[in-house]
Amino acid sequence: MRDLIIIGSGPAGWTAAIYAARANLKPVVIASQVEVGGELMNTTEVENFPGFPEGIMGPDLMAKMQQQAERFGTEVVYDDAAAVDFSGEVKRVTLGSGTVEEAKAVIFATGSANRKLGIPREDELSGYGISWCATCDGFFFREKTIAVVGGGDSAMEEATFLTKFASKVYLIHRRDEFRASQIMQQRAFDNEKIEVIWNSEIAELQGESALSGVVLRDTVTGETRELAVDGLFIAIGNDPRTHLVHDVLEISPEGTIAVDGRTSRTSVPGVFAAGDVIDPTYRQAVTAAASGTVAALDAEHFLAALSDREKVVASA
Ligand code: NAP
Repeated sequence: MRDLIIIGSGPAGWTAAIYAARANLKPVVIASQVEVGGELMNTTEVENFPGFPEGIMGPDLMAKMQQQAERFGTEVVYDDAAAVDFSGEVKRVTLGSGTVEEAKAVIFATGSANRKLGIPREDELSGYGISWCATCDGFFFREKTIAVVGGGDSAMEEATFLTKFASKVYLIHRRDEFRASQIMQQRAFDNEKIEVIWNSEIAELQGESALSGVVLRDTVTGETRELAVDGLFIAIGNDPRTHLVHDVLEISPEGTIAVDGRTSRTSVPGVFAAGDVIDPTYRQAVTAAASGTVAALDAEHFLAALSDREKVVASA
C-alpha cells in the first residue's frame, strides 16, 4: 500500500508532491485525464508568482512544478478520481479506469471549477460561441466581436487577452464597479478595444446552432436590450470542487472543505485538503502552493505517528 495519494494537479497538488517526494513518501498524483495543471492552464501570463520577475505563462509554470515534483520521485497518474472511500484506516480512491489506489493518507487538492451563469442554453452553446477559457479559444475569434462577463481579475485578464484577437470586446458587469485589482482594472480601462457595460446581466442567449448575440438586462431599471456578439467568455469565478467528498468530509458554510484552523486536517483523520478547495478568500497560485506545503507536512507528521504506533503494536 502507498503512503500518500494526492488528488489534483494544480499549484497545491504539485507543491504537496514536491514536499512529500522529498520526504521520501513516494506520492502518487492523480492528475486528471484531461485537465492536468488546474486553473492556471487557462491563464495567460502570471505576473505575481514570486521568482519570475518577467512573468511566466500559466501552463509553463505548471509544467515546471510537475517537473520539480517528478524529479524527486513523484508518480503521476493521468486519470480522474471517480470515487473515494475514506471510511477505514486504508484510504481508497477509485479512478475513472476502475483502478483502485490505496494509501494510508490522502491530500485532496481538487481546486475549483468555473462557475456557470445558470441560464437556458448555456451548456448547449458551450463550444459554439460560449467559452470559459480565453487562452484556449481566443484564437477562434479573430476580428470578431466578443463579450466577457464578470468583474473580477479573471474577467479583466480574459478581456485584455482577447483584444489580441477580437476587433471589439464588451466587458459586461452586473454592478457599477469592479472587484478586480486596480492594476488589472486599469489595464482594461486603458485598452481601446474594450467597452465596459455596467449594471447589466445576461438574460438570454441568442443564435440557432451558434451564439449570435445576447439579451442584456439592466440590473437597475430592469430594461432589456439585444447585443450582437460572436463569442461570450464567462469569467464569473469558481466553485470549490467538492462533489466527491460532500457526504464524506465536513464542508464549511462557504462550500469549501472544512479544515482545522491553519492546518490542512479535514474531519477525517489521514485526509488532508489544500488549495482552492479549502480557500473561499485568497485563491491565488502562491497561496495554493503554500497550502500544498502545509498539507504535505501535516501528512508527513500523520504518517510518522502512524508508523510509531505500528511499531509499538508490533513489539507488544
Ligand atoms: P471573483 O473575484 O470571485 O469575481 C467574480 C466576478 O463575477 C465578480 O465581479 C462577480 O460580481 C461576478 N459574478 C459572479 N457571479 C455572477 C453571475 N451569476 N452573473 C454575473 N456576474 C457574476 O472571481 P475571479 O475573477 O475568477 O477571481 C478568483 C480569484 O482568483 C480572485 O482571488 C482573483 O484575485 C484571483 N485571480 C488572480 C489573477 C491574477 O492576479 N493574475 C487572475 C485571475 C484571478 P460581483 O463583483 O458583483 O460579486
